[in-house]
Amino acid sequence: MVRDLQIGNQNKVVIQTMAMQKTENIDAVIEEINTYATHGAELVRLAILDEKDAEAIKVLKARTTVLLVADIHFDYRLALKAIENGIDKIRINPGNIGKKAYVKLVVDACKEKNIPIRIGVNAGSLEKDFLALHGKTAKAMVLSAQRHVDILESLDFKDIVISLKASEPQLAIDAYRLAAETFPYPLHIGITEAGPLRQGTIKSVAGMAPLIEAGIGDTIRVSLSASPVEELKVAKTLLSSFDLYEMPKLISCPTCGRLSYDMMPIVKKVEAYIEEHKINLTVAVMGCAVNGPGEARDADIGIAGGKKEGLIFVKGKIKRKVPQADLYDVFIEELNKLKK
Ligand code: SF4
Repeated sequence: MVRDLQIGNQNKVVIQTMAMQKTENIDAVIEEINTYATHGAELVRLAILDEKDAEAIKVLKARTTVLLVADIHFDYRLALKAIENGIDKIRINPGNIGKKAYVKLVVDACKEKNIPIRIGVNAGSLEKDFLALHGKTAKAMVLSAQRHVDILESLDFKDIVISLKASEPQLAIDAYRLAAETFPYPLHIGITEAGPLRQGTIKSVAGMAPLIEAGIGDTIRVSLSASPVEELKVAKTLLSSFDLYEMPKLISCPTCGRLSYDMMPIVKKVEAYIEEHKINLTVAVMGCAVNGPGEARDADIGIAGGKKEGLIFVKGKIKRKVPQADLYDVFIEELNKLKK
């Protein structure tokens, strides 16, 4: 549990992202956090690099109810400060903290405040001994995670989430599959440094879809060299493809020689409308009346273009014939009658 947010052991994958601004820039970070929350982030991670960032957590927590995760490398004092200032979860690798006494201080503080720890293994920064023995492999990644887990368990701490991120989708798939067999803890899945919007989206989906389909993954972060809002859209659409997230769905045909009206502008307008108004229906925009309503039979409502007029169909049945010029407006009117 991150406060009252459950991770794992349920038919839901918690969506998270990470703020881009330095955490001490409180106003900018608050704006980011709130924007991401309205776009579906249930957890927002913050990089905690120094004392100022750790101090900022106190102010941030006073100004938002969004759950926050402190991402800390090495420095146990920053972890202690983040916990003291009200952080909801921390990401730190106990094996990188140094002396066990320091790890114990962090673990004790987490225990006292019920703060979970995410262990984050990254294929790009594996320990030398595992690399030498096993190379950059799923086995090396899981052994690395095991080393961190062992330290926490030796301190009787089990409030753990594990991630094993790689930039190569196949390596991530193998690592998470092995981790799911190895650990009893929830897994945070992601393809790290996946790249810019198009490539990063495709790599993220290539790596995470097989995992999600297999029931692996309890929380997700899509990592793109793009706005976190785009990351959240990709995460939501991916989960929605497996019925793990409820959001508007737009079915539209690729068009072909049967297309008999100007469809693409209508696709864009309908997509924007259902997203903005959070209409959790399956909506179709199809090119022709010959195949459209049949091909989009499962849609709650749809448009199929015809010559000089368009058809509006509901659950595969034609409901209205509308002149092309009025098609969009009448469609929105009919859509709103169905709105959940
Ligand atoms: S719905 Fe009509 S226009 Fe669109 S791809 Fe199918 S046949 Fe072609």
